[in-house]
Amino acid sequence: MYNFYESGAKPDNVMCCPVCECQNCHLHSVMINQGGEVMEIGGGRVENHKVENLHRGAIVKVIFTCEDGHRFSKVFQFHKGVTFTDDEILSGDINELWRD
Ligand SMILES: [Zn+2]
Repeated sequence: MYNFYESGAKPDNVMCCPVCECQNCHLHSVMINQGGEVMEIGGGRVENHKVENLHRGAIVKVIFTCEDGHRFSKVFQFHKGVTFTDDEILSGDINELWRD
C-alpha cells in the first residue's frame, strides 16, 4: 500500500546544478513562506520566522549545494491556481539537512 510519507524518488531521476550541471547536489533545507509566516527546516531543526509579506500565495524553496560549491534553490510559488517555478542562485551559509 502506497504511503506518501514513506515513499521516495526514482533513482534514475537525478537533479543537476543549474550553474555547472553537476549531478552531485546535496539537499540542505526547505523553506515555506505563507503570507510572511516562514517555516525553515534544516540542520536537524525547525525554525519559524516572521518576514515582510512581499508576495501573494505560498512560496516553497528547496535549497541545495552542489559538490562544486554552487548553492541554489528550486522555487515554487502558488497563486490563483498556478504554480510558478524557478531556480535561484544563492550565497551565504545554510544548514544542511540530515542525510544517510
Ligand atoms: Zn554547481
